[in-house]
Order: sequence, then structure tokens, then C-alpha cells
Amino acid sequence: MLKIDNLNVYIDNENKKILDNFSLEINDGEIHAIMGKNGIGKSTLCKVIMGYPFYKITGSIKYNNVELLGIDASEIAKNGIMLISQNPPSIEGVTNAEVLRTALREKSNENIDIFKFNKEMEKICDKLCLDKSFIHKDINVGASGGERKKIELLHMGILKPSFIILDEIDSGLDVDALKIVSNFINEYYHEYKPSVLLITHHKNIIEYLKPNYVHILSDGKIIKTGDYHLAENIENEGFSKASDISEK
Ligand code: ADP
Ligand code: MG
Repeated sequence: MLKIDNLNVYIDNENKKILDNFSLEINDGEIHAIMGKNGIGKSTLCKVIMGYPFYKITGSIKYNNVELLGIDASEIAKNGIMLISQNPPSIEGVTNAEVLRTALREKSNENIDIFKFNKEMEKICDKLCLDKSFIHKDINVGASGGERKKIELLHMGILKPSFIILDEIDSGLDVDALKIVSNFINEYYHEYKPSVLLITHHKNIIEYLKPNYVHILSDGKIIKTGDYHLAENIENEGFSKASDISEK
């Protein structure tokens, strides 16, 4: 279970508070979506969970009773948490296959059967309709926005995190890619039952993934929680009005 308690996050030498006494609990196997206006702090929340060192933080984030605040991003990843970021960066000089092989070895402490490993990566590329040549290319180099999202999902499929943070995985995807990506996440969810924190602006992915809860983030905290119908209200009515609509 992920338990966030009274989280305060500041930037600019504490002149700006992004999250304000933010609390949230995500039980094992639950999908929670967070929606909110641009610049409200959604990506900040994702990065803070993942150990991004830039912020001044107070409060607590525990995953399976391990305090994540103050530990290294690589330790957080070893605890099974993975962030699929809004803008996956490109990294020259290291290929997807190399980084995944190294990460898997770190995780399992076992030697990897290269033949099986390559086959698994190819199978995932097929499912994602992602050109297999990316497997042995430098991470995200020369990849389009949509391809970058799929490459992140290739990493997810290999590393098998138990807690996935999807920060606007649907942004910039065409309708076909959105379907492919959503189906891949759905299939992963049903096979491995991870917990999911989904950040999105659109109801489409919410209709595919059917989160248990949809939250609205405003003024640094969750101001409303509903089921996936809340996303529909937001898309139809905008945030201010949707926040007033009584819960179903
Ligand atoms: P969202 O993902 O909800 O659109 P973000 O979490 O990216 O919003 O940003 C929240 C606020 O924090 C914004 O006002 C943004 O400008 C600011 N912010 C985020 N990261 C930084 C940074 N590295 N330096 C300065 N301001 C930042
Ligand atoms: Mg963002």
C-alpha cells in the first residue's frame, strides 16, 4: 500500500508551495486517477514519489511501510515503483536492451537468459506495435512522442513494477496508439495486479482503465473524489463546475 500523509512540497527556496498537506492512500491493486488544471502540481507529485531531489519536502510517503522520502530514486525503483514520465528524455550512449538487462540483473541477482530476454522484448514490441529496432537503439533517441511512451511501456513490461505512476501517458497519442497503449496497460494490470496512479486530462483512458477512484487536485490537495464518472463531468463541465457536482 502507498500511504501519503500531510505532504508539503515547496520550490523556489520555499517561496512557492505546490502541495499543501496532501494525503492519499492507494491500496494494493487499486487504480487511482488524478485530474487537475495545468501547473497544479500533478507531475510534481509523481516526481516527489519517485525521489526527484529538487524539492523541499515535509510529510511522509510510505510504500509497504518503507519511508520513501529521503531515499534514492534507484532504491525507490527497487521497491517496485516505476514512473512513466510525461516527457521521457532521450539518453545517448545506452540502449534499451542494455539498461533493461542491467536493471533486471540488479533486481533478481540472477544471470539472464539472453535468448529469452530478447524474445520477451520482441513480444512486447509486437503488442505495442513498436518497431523492434528500438530494442537495440539508445533510449528514446530519434523516437517520436508516441514511440517514447511505448518505449517506457516496454521497460514496464520487462521490469514488472508493482506500483506504476502514469503521468499523462495518453498525451500526444493518436486514437489508434491510445487504444494500443490502454490495452497493453489493461493486460498488464490483469496479469500482475499492480497499483496504479494515473494522471490524465482525458476521459478516454479513464474509460479504458476504469479507475476505482478519480480525484481532483486543486490548491495543493485533493478537493473531490468520485468514481470514473467524475472524469466525464470534468470533460463536459470543466473543473470548477465538476468540483461542485455532488458525488454519485
Ligand atoms: P502539472 O503537472 O499539474 O501541470 P507541475 O507539477 O509540472 O504541474 O507544476 C506545478 C507548478 O510547479 C507549476 O507552477 C510549475 O511551473 C512549477 N514547477 C514545477 N517544476 C518546477 C521547477 N523545476 N522549477 C520551477 N518551477 C517548477
Ligand atoms: Mg504535468
